[in-house]
Amino acid sequence: MPTLTPSLNMNAESTRQRLTGLFVQSEVLKCHSYLMDALLKSEDPALSAYSYDSIQNLYPDPSSWPYTDCLSYIDERWDRPDLEPMPGDSCPDCSSHQLATNAQGGIICPSSSCGFTSSDEDTNEESNHEALMGCIRELGEPQEIYEWWLVTSWLASKLDEQGEPLLTDDESHWWGRTCTGQAICLDYNIQALARLRYPEDWPTK
Ligand SMILES: [Zn+2]
Repeated sequence: MPTLTPSLNMNAESTRQRLTGLFVQSEVLKCHSYLMDALLKSEDPALSAYSYDSIQNLYPDPSSWPYTDCLSYIDERWDRPDLEPMPGDSCPDCSSHQLATNAQGGIICPSSSCGFTSSDEDTNEESNHEALMGCIRELGEPQEIYEWWLVTSWLASKLDEQGEPLLTDDESHWWGRTCTGQAICLDYNIQALARLRYPEDWPTK
């Protein structure tokens, strides 16, 4: 009868889940969904630290997002705001050519009969970036939180870097998990952190 050696028979995915499970055991302390829901609903002024206004990262903050990230975030949700022309766009004057750049970095229509010109690419991109970030700040919806978990301060700082919702008082950190119905060790963002914890054992394939 063959002997099963679990460590040899585990495929890469189950190894990742096992390591993430170990990680979760040490960093995710308790489910506090009922407690947090009650605190967030409370109108007691003594509990004002536990309000929706105190949740970090509840709304998207595009301040550090690259231009292309802002663009794709908007394209997935809304119509783009009015933007300055960029190379590759259809010419706003003749609509029959794609804009290009000239030797000085200015944006031009390649058609000699059209003559459309605009400021240089960097200037337009900067102004578009501002417009896109403004649009995201204005229209961004709050993240939907399904579960609250008491987590270590180390994990809270990592989740903050990932833009996950967090609520912190003088001594505790709660993570507002935006998915539900699956084990935490299957969450992609948590697996990414577990990989940092166990770089040697993490299956690369
Ligand atoms: Zn043109």
